[in-house]
Amino acid sequence: MLTLIKNARVYAPENLGKKDVLIAGGKIIDMKDDIDIQYDQLKVVDGQKQLLLPGFIDSHVHLLGGGGEGGFQTRTPEMMLSEITSAGVTTVVGCLGTDGLTRSMPSLVAKAKGLTEEGITAFAYTGSYRLPLKTLTGDIQKDIMMVNEIIGTGEVALSDHRSSQPSLDLFLQTCAETRLGGLLSGKAGVINVHLGDGKDQMDYLWYLMRETDIPVKHLLPTHVNRNRSLFFEGIEYAKAGGYIDFTTSTVPQFIDEGEVPAAEAYKIAIEKGVPLDAVTFSSDAQGSLPQFDRQGKLIGLDVGRVYSLYESVLKLVQSGLDIEKAILPVTLNPAQRLKLEQKGRIRIGGDADILLVDEASFAIQSVYAKGQLMFDEGKACVKGHFEKGD
Ligand code: ZN
Repeated sequence: MLTLIKNARVYAPENLGKKDVLIAGGKIIDMKDDIDIQYDQLKVVDGQKQLLLPGFIDSHVHLLGGGGEGGFQTRTPEMMLSEITSAGVTTVVGCLGTDGLTRSMPSLVAKAKGLTEEGITAFAYTGSYRLPLKTLTGDIQKDIMMVNEIIGTGEVALSDHRSSQPSLDLFLQTCAETRLGGLLSGKAGVINVHLGDGKDQMDYLWYLMRETDIPVKHLLPTHVNRNRSLFFEGIEYAKAGGYIDFTTSTVPQFIDEGEVPAAEAYKIAIEKGVPLDAVTFSSDAQGSLPQFDRQGKLIGLDVGRVYSLYESVLKLVQSGLDIEKAILPVTLNPAQRLKLEQKGRIRIGGDADILLVDEASFAIQSVYAKGQLMFDEGKACVKGHFEKGD
């Protein structure tokens, strides 16, 4: 089966103008102004009045659910395929979180394999909040080198009352091993760092950047927009050559308390001179969003949503930002951070992870993952194995 999308305006992420895009075998096999072929197994899709974008990449998703900070009944639920695809996301990286005990690496890797079988592309970070890391095979390098799905470590928690309060040395050793596993396997070898509201903020990351030989590209600190002080430190860190990730899931209380919504954070960062390639977004989907009072008592708990990734991009587009800039934090930038050559761009030979959005409203019309139509006309056309019919 061949699919030919005709006359869509392609953002690769750069604006390439109107193109015809031909898909076969899960790949984009041709793209030019006019493709005219005859074939009895050809499906032609009219892309008029639509924008064709790379499928979104979400680099921080609690695929198995997360949380539990309010007791066992507050463990958040596992993620389903259609929640991902209906948000325009075709690549995810799963992580554990606060709870690295009842959620385990074998389950996480199995979930990533399952989602990949169901049509999208899913990876995982090894470990959880806690250092030393509890890995799948007992060794960080071995996990990254020998397990296809594992592309780095995380989310390792720093500057948070829920972190394991690791020493600087232990953190640096973890980074070094992660990097080496990445080098030896041709993978990114990134350390996804959860930053909390703690007073040390990015101290360990600055140390790594300034005092060690580990290249800073291996660090992917997330939740950098969670309070204004951390956010402005993150801007300085990115201007000094680091990379930062903004979380898109939020609740009104967080914003009242000083969280900078991801879309706004990105615009401020650009204004302040942060390089465009330094910022990524991730949803923190299925992670718990616990609200604590000043004494550290849990007073509320919500759950992150993968759809917030799209909503943040939509906000950027509605605010008048160029589409090619608006989609960078969810396409090319995470693909580069995670060293996913086949992802995050529209190019001949790349994976056919494609989003069609309405030119006027930016509403998601169709989502293709590796050439397969996953979401179309407002509903998921491929469901996870145990998802109910529509
Ligand atoms: Zn986190």
